[in-house]
Amino acid sequence: MRILLIEDEIAIAGFISEGLAEEGFAVDVAHNGKEGLAMALDHLEEYDLLLLDWMLPGMSGIEICRNIRKQRPAFPIIFLTARDTVDDVVFGLETGANDYLRKPFAFEELLARIRVLLRSSAGEQTVFRHKDLELDIARHQVLKSGAPIELTQKEFALLELLLRNKGKVCRRSRIIEKVWDIHFDHDTAVIDVYINALRKKLDTAGQVSFVQTIRGVGYRVNDD
Ligand code: CA
Repeated sequence: MRILLIEDEIAIAGFISEGLAEEGFAVDVAHNGKEGLAMALDHLEEYDLLLLDWMLPGMSGIEICRNIRKQRPAFPIIFLTARDTVDDVVFGLETGANDYLRKPFAFEELLARIRVLLRSSAGEQTVFRHKDLELDIARHQVLKSGAPIELTQKEFALLELLLRNKGKVCRRSRIIEKVWDIHFDHDTAVIDVYINALRKKLDTAGQVSFVQTIRGVGYRVNDD
């Protein structure tokens, strides 16, 4: 899952993006309204959610929200702001934000709201299965034949992407877009390293791998 954060306060932006990265999200940050809107519109299909500050240099969060809504009416947007009168809250939501979080907030609350919003925008499914594997997003847990398997955050994000797209090829470019952030240096060999790590943890000896290599294109988990 890839998130765009538009927030001009450097310390807050750093705190949020580091926390989300630890939770396995790919996060891009813009510190200026105009720059943030440009990033959003350039990559709108790649982002899954926008965290948007209200008061920003260059362009306000409200204007950014309106612009994005014209392109993608259902795009998940959470406002982050110190403005907290009831009128402001109502105005923010009427402008098209899905949710609204007042500063200062606890990171855990932000995370919970992000997960709720991503769940509702992606449909209700939170558990994905393939043969003896089970990935549970709400519990952030992977089971193999019922036994928990420890995955790193990036491994978890990659497995989630593959299982969400079961039966379809995940192209290498799409894997990079969804699992790594904009600062990624474009050596896509890192994908193969992570796929190999997943195979070591999840494959059963003597059986074909849970994930198939589509040479030169990407990876696919076959339908059962
Ligand atoms: Ca601000």
